[in-house]
Amino acid sequence: MEDCIFCKIASKEIPAKLVYESENVVGFRDINPQAPTHILVVPKKHFASLNELDDISLMGELLNAVKKITKKLEIQEYRTVINTGKSAGQEVFHIHIHILAGRDMKWPPG
Ligand code: 5GP
Ligand code: ZN
Repeated sequence: MEDCIFCKIASKEIPAKLVYESENVVGFRDINPQAPTHILVVPKKHFASLNELDDISLMGELLNAVKKITKKLEIQEYRTVINTGKSAGQEVFHIHIHILAGRDMKWPPG
């Protein structure tokens, strides 16, 4: 999709610190990390949010990527987050899973 930052990262049009790539998914480091490790996992195909994702098998691929990335980075304790919609904190409207690790997390999240 035009003017979508994560589409451009997925297609390598703009650079990112890639940690994972498969046929349909990429994982890369967040530009503004909120924890010592902060990675975003996104489908290469554009879906604005979980509400628009019609191919639910893609969620399995995204979670499989989370497992592969955390295994590769030897991370056993981490938080995964999907923000859906502005009030939930979504700023980039291309679905992504956050992986946050390397510090104690609070609950409930703010
Ligand atoms: P959201 O608030 O939509 O759940 O998360 C969007 C995330 O994307 C934020 O954590 C933000 O720091 C990250 N982000 C925004 N633009 C870029 C970018 O150009 N490159 C990278 N690597 N991360 C970005
Ligand atoms: Zn996109």
